[in-house]
Amino acid sequence: MCFSLFFFFKTSSPLKPPSQMAGQKAEAKKSTNSNNVPLFSSKVTDLDVKLDNEIVYEFGGPLGVVGMMLGFPSLMYYFWICLEHHQGKLIVPAVWSVEGIKSFFWNDIYAAVIDGARPTVYAAKIYMGYIVFSFILASIMPGPVVNGLPIPSLKGKRLPYLCNGLAAWYFTLPFSAFLHVTGIFRLTDIIDNFGHIMTIAIMWGFTLTTLVFIASHIQGTNHRMSGNLFYDFFMGASLNPRVGVVDLKMWAEIRVPWPILFYISVSCALKQYETRGYITAPAAFMVLAHFLYVNACQKGEECIPTSWDMFYEKDGFMLVFWNMAGVPFTYCYASIYLMKFEETTGIAITHSLPYTVGLFVALVSAYYIFDTGNSQKNRFRMEQNGSYIARNAFPQLPYGHIKNPNYIKTAHGNLLLTDGWWGVVRKPHYTADLVMALSWGLITGFGSFLPYFYVCFFLVVLTHRVSRDMERCAKKYGKDWDRYCERVPYIFVPYVF
Ligand code: NDP
Repeated sequence: MCFSLFFFFKTSSPLKPPSQMAGQKAEAKKSTNSNNVPLFSSKVTDLDVKLDNEIVYEFGGPLGVVGMMLGFPSLMYYFWICLEHHQGKLIVPAVWSVEGIKSFFWNDIYAAVIDGARPTVYAAKIYMGYIVFSFILASIMPGPVVNGLPIPSLKGKRLPYLCNGLAAWYFTLPFSAFLHVTGIFRLTDIIDNFGHIMTIAIMWGFTLTTLVFIASHIQGTNHRMSGNLFYDFFMGASLNPRVGVVDLKMWAEIRVPWPILFYISVSCALKQYETRGYITAPAAFMVLAHFLYVNACQKGEECIPTSWDMFYEKDGFMLVFWNMAGVPFTYCYASIYLMKFEETTGIAITHSLPYTVGLFVALVSAYYIFDTGNSQKNRFRMEQNGSYIARNAFPQLPYGHIKNPNYIKTAHGNLLLTDGWWGVVRKPHYTADLVMALSWGLITGFGSFLPYFYVCFFLVVLTHRVSRDMERCAKKYGKDWDRYCERVPYIFVPYVF
């Protein structure tokens, strides 16, 4: 893993042959703005409209999505029981008979859920309290307003997004510390009520999806509907649902899952400190890992309005449920495993110094590529969109903004960046994200699969996302996309894949 990161750093510039660079610079000469990135002023094309309206059954169509809507919550309960009661071991019926399976479901699953994950008023106060709190902050905190991409279904209109995530995050951090220290709300209550809170989150995921779905029908904002109720519920009806100044999709993606994930890890670390008097390196690692992720989302929020999720994905179960419940309550398994293992065995999971340091280095290095990779492309797109703003949110890393970038100009009008990490592979931010995800598992050792669930799941998600995205881009950019793929031939790792 460290080798591949090293490789990444070493190959960024040798991969650009001088002849290619000359060609790219020649294209760049046509540039118009101060950073040599032309503003993309053309209106939405007929092809944009066609692609935006195209209905393709994904995820196995209606049957597949029904399976997912039932399967996700069931899996979340199953994994939680394995972590809570079985030190992360994946349990199965003791006897494979009808009686054995019945007993497994009643005694091991149902009883555990009723005991530790039934909805409680206190859990609802914690979870819904945070939801309301974050929504209020999203409505009132100051921040720059950034325009999204032209929306084909709105005749090329560009929606404004209030990007106040950073102010909300900087308010939330000291406020939560205040609540904890004063005892008004002990952050350890999160992990003490984990199962109950997860159930409230699952219920809220379904409720919010339903509310947005119904509102879209009432307001007549349905878009790209397949006509199949289950499929449309899963994919969503409305493209850009809003309540006041709050864009529900952006709020759900940025403000809810990652801060909750971070606070779950903080809660585990604090619990360890309160019961044992120390915080182990792996527990601190998880707090750092989740801090970096949530902080990256807030500090780069102004880059989100030009992302695919904002201009293409609808606000259905897939986005809503996953952000409200799936991300925070499944991506946290490493933190919970570390805590539960110590709680049940009395032994804290720790590793040798080189292994631990190696993982910290891998995490921070991967974060660096993730952060700068996302900002390189997003800032480039914002420049093209005319919505670029310089912000000094901590940490601003070197190489996050490419001056006079190389790119391919497409017949469509859009530009494809072929510089920085984007000259090395086509999805540098995915590779870095996956390395971080892997490190979250590795820091727990090899005692359970569950801390690795995230990286496995994420690999499937990103592979699927890549294939969807490439298919769409190939249709959108035609020969220019082939040209781009020739210039940047590898997707994830140079010379490998
Ligand atoms: P991308 O950032 O890959 O965006 C894809 C779009 O970017 C394409 O459709 C295309 O849009 C444009 N694009 C692709 N290549 C180029 C290029 N070379 N130059 C300019 N534009 C280009 O997608 P995501 O939104 O999936 O990922 C954003 C981040 O979010 C990633 O770091 C990812 O890892 C992370 N993520 C995390 C998840 C999690 O659960 N932890 C889940 C999903 C994402 P156009 O058609 O407009 O040209």
